[in-house]
Amino acid sequence: MEITPDLQPKARRLLLLLNPCGGRGNALQQCHTHILPIITEADISYNLVQTERANHARELVQTINLEEWDGIVVISGDGLLFEVINGLMERPDWEDAIKMPIGILPCGSGNALAGAINYNAGFEQAMGSELLLNCILLLCRGTVMPMDLVSVTTCSGTRSFSFLSVAWGFISDVDIESEKYRHMGSARFTVGTMVRVASLRTYRGRLSYLPVLDAHRPICRSITLSPNGSLAPLQRSQLHRTISDMGLCEERNIMFERSTAVLDTGELPSFETSPSPGSPTALHTSQFTFDSVPNALSEPDRMLPNDVGCPTHSHVNGPKDDLLPPLDQPLPKSWVTVEGDFVLVLGIYQSHLGADLFTAPFSYFDDGLIHLFFVKAGISRTALVRLFLAMEKGTHIGMECPYLVHVPVRAFRLEPLTKKGILTVDGERVEYGPIQAQVHQRLGNLITG
Ligand code: ADP
Ligand code: MG
Repeated sequence: MEITPDLQPKARRLLLLLNPCGGRGNALQQCHTHILPIITEADISYNLVQTERANHARELVQTINLEEWDGIVVISGDGLLFEVINGLMERPDWEDAIKMPIGILPCGSGNALAGAINYNAGFEQAMGSELLLNCILLLCRGTVMPMDLVSVTTCSGTRSFSFLSVAWGFISDVDIESEKYRHMGSARFTVGTMVRVASLRTYRGRLSYLPVLDAHRPICRSITLSPNGSLAPLQRSQLHRTISDMGLCEERNIMFERSTAVLDTGELPSFETSPSPGSPTALHTSQFTFDSVPNALSEPDRMLPNDVGCPTHSHVNGPKDDLLPPLDQPLPKSWVTVEGDFVLVLGIYQSHLGADLFTAPFSYFDDGLIHLFFVKAGISRTALVRLFLAMEKGTHIGMECPYLVHVPVRAFRLEPLTKKGILTVDGERVEYGPIQAQVHQRLGNLITG
């Protein structure tokens, strides 16, 4: 048989989008000194486009021919990737378009996704050019994995698709207020954190969420936990709190037993399937038996098809938010609501919130979960600083800080009651007011190497 040109392996074709203003503004220089030499060596063919303004990339990806590319890679921070994802979702053929593998080479100040990719590949946590180099090598290898995207609806009815986070309070304040220290690169967040700690404030709000439970499974009236092996007191109380916070069971109905464990993989999927390299929490290292009394839900979690979503969506494309009633309508009874004063609320769906912020160690790209964290008012400045310092290594989870709560959820709604504040989606500011979100498992594809 003759080897004709169409039988030869084709070079991968990548569309590289570079934000010359990202981070310290040296993305183009990084590109010429580090990126292009290596990917040329790897036989990747590419087209490099520099963005000229905000939303340029968003518009550009709406016009490209999908057939011509094997991937779209942003050379910037997380903000430009947000544009690419939303541009793809705005296309009439969004269902195909969003399957385009997307990648990131970290040249911004917020490099959370790059941090998650680096961690997933088994590299040590890294920053700056070390992180960039790791990500270039992973891009060359080119493995693609499915990635969850979260549909976020703000008060005007605008819907966008998010890959990283929704933040309110301390974290969004730091992110936006530190824009003025942009020249410092990622150090801007450290400085911003210190400034915010000094003038610590709290926000009043109502946070509701749909805990991780299969909509058609019963919830438990009581849970007996039988750790496989001994459980340190610290782990025990952490677990206790997490289970009651998840709304799986009331706290007084949780009992611990020291007997042999029988693994029931049915009830807490997020715990048993999470990878746990170096993770300090009991939730991944022990197995548990669930002695549950079925208690059928009186109301279905999923909305009926003709009762779905916000009627005023500007984003008409995309999968239906079948877990969310419109923002101005009440939530199903199976949701849990917490009302009070918060220092911060964070919904995160990647392991990292920044290259050196290992915020959700148990999170992975397609776990179908939003990891909802909140810090309640009353925490001291010292304790808050300690939490953020511990976050570099991901050890904040095991610190047993009574003000910090973590709940894995499928959807949440946040209604700020404090009049002024900052909300961010993937680190970009959005309109302030009620906001809600639902995860769409494996909607996108990420180049993880
Ligand atoms: P950083 O991590 O430093 O914030 P990002 O990639 O997140 O870097 O980009 C920050 C913002 O810059 C994003 O909101 C993006 O839309 C915007 N942007 C993209 N291209 C340009 C450009 N050429 N000029 C100005 N802003 C841009
Ligand atoms: Mg950004």
